Amino acid sequence: MWIPPEQRLRALNFPAFISRILICFLWVISITTTNGFAQEQSETLHGLMLQQGSLTLVTDSQDTSLLRQAADQVEKITEDIYVLTRLRRSDSLTIYFLNNLHQVRKFIPTAPTWSGGLTTDPNTLYVYDSDPVEWLATLRHELTHVLVAQNNLTLPVWFNEGLAQYVAGKWSWSGYLALGNAVLRSDVIPLSDLDMVLTYSRQKAELGYAESLGAFKYMLERQGRSILPILLTSDDRTFKERYQAASQETLLDFEIGWREDLSRSYAFYKLVKFPDILWLAMPFIVLIGYFLMRWRNRKKIRQWEIEEGWELHRGEPD
Ligand SMILES: [Zn+2]
Repeated sequence: MWIPPEQRLRALNFPAFISRILICFLWVISITTTNGFAQEQSETLHGLMLQQGSLTLVTDSQDTSLLRQAADQVEKITEDIYVLTRLRRSDSLTIYFLNNLHQVRKFIPTAPTWSGGLTTDPNTLYVYDSDPVEWLATLRHELTHVLVAQNNLTLPVWFNEGLAQYVAGKWSWSGYLALGNAVLRSDVIPLSDLDMVLTYSRQKAELGYAESLGAFKYMLERQGRSILPILLTSDDRTFKERYQAASQETLLDFEIGWREDLSRSYAFYKLVKFPDILWLAMPFIVLIGYFLMRWRNRKKIRQWEIEEGWELHRGEPD
């Protein structure tokens, strides 16, 4: 999840947050390190910190292995993102791993309740997914947002979230169903409206994220992965202009193509979702079944008649 600049200001513009940042800063310069780890001494966090060059990892737990693993993962993920997008980390980064949801509310009160991680500015990201299995996917997702932000890219929210989910490699069954339902009810949210996804309810956000990933994957199918470094270049052109120059089609044509592809992909879903269609078709299915049975029986009787004739013929003396 990425907070757009206008909401980012709201997320950061509160005195308590600033005071905590100052407390953290004082703590950073006053700590004594042991084996690369530092005991966190501030009022807000009681945990550990690991500093590696321009990367700072902080946790509210005493789990040293978490920070070591995370440091390795940050390197690997950054490399993966570079291979896909040609984006590199160009600035310092602090990552907070928070287990205590109370801490999350203190640090980032604007975080939607359904979120598991958040990038508040190009140098800070939070991972607070309660499921330990999920934190790696969340880290991949948020690191993608960080790299986009550190490279001064202005992207449509759907593309930014689609890219982050693609890098995270997470697939959501409930998102798939939400998209299927939206296709059937013609409730698919226009991509440009997804700029407000952070203000959505959990249910609507689920659809928004599923759409973002779906549209992003469709773009890769339609244009190939080689389009990504072109779209992720910071220049004077808008995203729309960069897309049109690279693909020879407008972003609107792309969206129309994606919507058509969605209808095709979810055509079978109508039968599963609306069994009424099956009931309506039932008389025809019964009729076809009846004629098939009749045809099979007649064929069988003809076969018996032929066999009987052959037996009679064989039984007669020459
Ligand atoms: Zn995101």
